Amino acid sequence: MSPPWSQPLEVDRLADGGADLDFAIPLAELTGLRPDRPGVAGEVRGRAHFLRERGFAVAELRLEGDAQLQCQRCMQPLRLPLQAVTRVALADSEAQVAQVPEDLEPVLASGGRISLGQLVTEELLLSLPIVPLHAGEGDCAAAPEAVASEAETHRPFAQLADLLKRK
Ligand SMILES: [Zn+2]
Repeated sequence: MSPPWSQPLEVDRLADGGADLDFAIPLAELTGLRPDRPGVAGEVRGRAHFLRERGFAVAELRLEGDAQLQCQRCMQPLRLPLQAVTRVALADSEAQVAQVPEDLEPVLASGGRISLGQLVTEELLLSLPIVPLHAGEGDCAAAPEAVASEAETHRPFAQLADLLKRK
């Protein structure tokens, strides 16, 4: 069964109904992010509020979460907090994209349909760096510690194995 966020939504119906949709999406499942950011992990949560504005179907998108990427300098995990509030005009054709007012960010919803996953992907493609790096080279040196704490969180049994070995 495909998750709700992956299902195409009828943009006009949502906008005219003033719909609010909450979402929680594992970044690893956003296929549109993968080509340039292999191994992306983490989760993005938020709410999309739909409305009609100047004839356009508009989505007010609030999102927050954490992205885990790979630092391209030290190749260690890098955690990036996500937080964004944007207003997106959902254009149903390339021609309509060109007419979107400047204060709205145009997103193409082909045939008037888009999924929350696609909408969030469009936003993250703008905000996630293609070449993620720890803030400074010094931060890279500290990375092995971060890896260790990551392992404790996500691999409790590996840690247990270590404990057993020590006995
Ligand atoms: Zn690094």
